[in-house]
Amino acid sequence: MTQHQRPRTPTPDPAVPYPGGEDAPAPGFTRLAPQTGSGLTLPAGSTLTIVDPCGEQVSDLFLFAADDHDEWFSSGRTTDYKNSIYVGPGDPLYSNRSRVMATVVTDTVGVHDLTLTPCSQDTFDLLYPEFEGAPHPSCFANLVGAFAPFGIGPDRISTTLNVFMDVWTDLDGELHIDPPPTTPGDRFTIRAEIDLVVGVTACSAEKSNNGRCTPIDIRVD
Ligand SMILES: [Zn+2]
Repeated sequence: MTQHQRPRTPTPDPAVPYPGGEDAPAPGFTRLAPQTGSGLTLPAGSTLTIVDPCGEQVSDLFLFAADDHDEWFSSGRTTDYKNSIYVGPGDPLYSNRSRVMATVVTDTVGVHDLTLTPCSQDTFDLLYPEFEGAPHPSCFANLVGAFAPFGIGPDRISTTLNVFMDVWTDLDGELHIDPPPTTPGDRFTIRAEIDLVVGVTACSAEKSNNGRCTPIDIRVD
């Protein structure tokens, strides 16, 4: 195995090809426009499906317990308990209190990032000098907006589950971000194990999305 070959264990595509596409989401799905986000409640037992309708698009995901916003998704505990920096079908997503918040149900990709924070204005100021500090949409700002109606402030938003994001580490510890290995219609579904407040985005960072920011389609069942 070379450093470029990450473990990929996607479930076989469980359904017919995604009937949505670049022009419109599939029936029953809600489209997040490029570089936007949304907040929603996800009751225990319900599922959230995230679809990349155009391909090569990241979606940042963050979770809070609905009954106590001091309990939030912990990438650290999730990777610690699985002893892996990747999650896939059947894997629990843990909170900072080590409670299982959600379980991965379906995953047609097998590569998602648990190491990086949501892109923010600071990200663009520091890592995109060509933008010269100009205001730029970001996952962090979009998550702030998504959680605000639930009374959740910016400082509670921690490391996200960056769905479809392909981050890998070389032997020197340097991080590399490859384009998302998704093709149109790839999907990732979680089931809530407790009542959740969820924020989800269509990532705003050009470098994370192969230079082109596109929509994300979501559906709650
Ligand atoms: Zn982003």
